[in-house]
Amino acid sequence: MEIKTDVLIIGSGIAGLFSAIKISSFADVILVTKKEKNESNTNYAQGGIAAVISGDDSFDKHINDTIVAGAGLCNEEEVKSLVEDGPGCINDLIELGTHFTLEEEKLHLLKEGGHSKNRIVHAHDLTGKEIERALIDKISTIPGIRIMENCFAIDLITEHNLKNQKNAESTPRHCWGAYVQNSKLNRVIKIISKVTILATGGLGQVYLHTTNPAIATGDGVAMAYRAGAKVGNLEFIQFHPTSLYHSGPVTDRHSFLISEAVRGFGGILLNSSGEAFMQKYDTRKELAPRDIVARAIDNELKKRGDDFVLLDITHKNGEEIKTHFPNIYAKCRGLNIDITAQPIPVVPAAHYSCGGIVVDHFAKTSLKGLFAIGEVAMTGVHGANRLASNSLLEAVVYAKRVCEYLKLNLVKTEQTKHIIPDWDDSGTLTSDEKVLISHSQKELKQLMWDYVGIVRSDLRLNFAGRRVNNLYTEVEEFYKKTKIFDSLLELRDMITCASLIIKSAEMRKESRGLHFTTDYPDYLRSPKDTILQNTFHRS
Ligand SMILES: Cc1cc2nc3c(=O)[nH]c(=O)nc-3n(C[C@H](O)[C@H](O)[C@H](O)COP(=O)(O)OP(=O)(O)OC[C@H]3O[C@@H](n4cnc5c(N)ncnc54)[C@H](O)[C@@H]3O)c2cc1C
Repeated sequence: MEIKTDVLIIGSGIAGLFSAIKISSFADVILVTKKEKNESNTNYAQGGIAAVISGDDSFDKHINDTIVAGAGLCNEEEVKSLVEDGPGCINDLIELGTHFTLEEEKLHLLKEGGHSKNRIVHAHDLTGKEIERALIDKISTIPGIRIMENCFAIDLITEHNLKNQKNAESTPRHCWGAYVQNSKLNRVIKIISKVTILATGGLGQVYLHTTNPAIATGDGVAMAYRAGAKVGNLEFIQFHPTSLYHSGPVTDRHSFLISEAVRGFGGILLNSSGEAFMQKYDTRKELAPRDIVARAIDNELKKRGDDFVLLDITHKNGEEIKTHFPNIYAKCRGLNIDITAQPIPVVPAAHYSCGGIVVDHFAKTSLKGLFAIGEVAMTGVHGANRLASNSLLEAVVYAKRVCEYLKLNLVKTEQTKHIIPDWDDSGTLTSDEKVLISHSQKELKQLMWDYVGIVRSDLRLNFAGRRVNNLYTEVEEFYKKTKIFDSLLELRDMITCASLIIKSAEMRKESRGLHFTTDYPDYLRSPKDTILQNTFHRS
């Protein structure tokens, strides 16, 4: 089956939905998403969006905070324009129906770690959910947008797919759409588009513990890399120090975030002997920056062979705890943990990918016709470490820029004249060996957690690289012989992302921002020695 459209958008988080709405005013849009339309990282974002709103804040302060967090690797021009475009994007979200929390009819602004001013626009502690609701409601009123749920983008269409046609052997230069598996009908659709926008979110599921929902398997980065697009800075994975530890099946794990505010409220981290340990690592103890707290917890766990540490707020007033943290209280209560009387088992968890598909100011990738926005993209604004609440902002700012770019340039773009072949699954068989997938997935997540997590070393990366190569070979063989299904596609993409993270981590011979290695514990201060942006494409 073949469908043609002007613009194909892959993903229905904030980036995909926002761009679909804006582009629909001048072009036909198909938006495919692999599960239900609201299932996305966006839906779980709690804190909010950073923007300069208050009179005592300034663009310079927000720019400076972002650059300090980025540990010397931010693209400063991009940071400047991100921050300057912020307030306008908040207005756009409000105009599209988002209800942010107000105080005396003005936006209520929170402060988060690393921000020198109150600038976090939020909808209580469910900001992402409210944004998804508003954007999905808006889209339901726009006939020019066709949303296709349960449609899994498998691979991008490029010159590589033109077997036996002119250009067949040339290096991929263009993207002409994607092959998409309709998972309900079990059928692969060929969607041919003038322009394709990847808005597929993050890759936290590559790790054993992650705050990211099950959809975050890095499909966009893997597809783009296979298609020949440039990727970069994938060593910079942000780990949130405290997510709720639970011992469910490994493949189901999507850890609930225990917000920084609990430590801000006086929560104390204890090891399995009941000892407070943060003073050994930083004078700011529990209030040290995220990466320091995450490394301290990781060290305690690795030293002692434990699975989790404890976050204790039982010394605080029980009623106040319930008032300040109603969601956390309710979530833990549901798991038989009364946080007013018992410490909370917590573990760091993969939270955000600062790297991704390399894009320019207008979200253009290195392939013509392919754009990337949101967490899947590497815009350069986060450098080596993301400032809290800058990711939703980045997603909206670059989604808006793609629209502005396409508004001027889409008329000059034509559909490909090539005959794009149908998806070829001849010679493949339906498999009842799903255990191969679940086992390999567990193995991958565990080895990425143990060897390529918060603290790395050359030896660990080398071990991990060899094991991931084995998994790659086994899964590719299985993929070539088997009729595709979603978990196989996800595993394949997760393995590709894992190998890209390892490769990037091996390339960076220093510790900087979110990348810490015991072999090169120091920051290379000389720009001449530092790989500024760690970018590469498939050779
Ligand atoms: C628990 C949590 C809290 C957070 N809190 C904040 C916060 O307070 N502030 C902040 O700025 N950031 C926060 N973040 C980060 C932020 O939520 C994400 O970076 C952002 O939502 C990413 O948006 P996105 O549109 O790029 O991707 P997502 O929202 O993840 O959407 C990706 C979409 O792509 C679809 N998709 C993926 N692969 C395929 C495929 N192969 N085929 C078809 N569809 C596909 C998915 O189903 C999904 O619809 C948080 C993240 C988490 C997990």
